Amino acid sequence: MAEGLKWLQCPVCKESIYWRVPEEGLKKIKRFPAPVVIKHKDHYLVCYLDSHYQLADTEVAADCVEGRAKEG
Ligand SMILES: [Zn+2]
Repeated sequence: MAEGLKWLQCPVCKESIYWRVPEEGLKKIKRFPAPVVIKHKDHYLVCYLDSHYQLADTEVAADCVEGRAKEG
């Protein structure tokens, strides 16, 4: 696996996601774990990386989803 490439199973749709650690952006981070937002299809995930860029936690960013379709 290429360096900096992470694998995770999407907690929403259960598909495999390969994503690249945004190392340039993380250089500016002073406090870890640092949240990295990943857009996957129509949902967003927040991955928390520790100072070694290891995945510390993953959560579904429920507050970021796009507006609901009209019902009825
Ligand atoms: Zn997904």
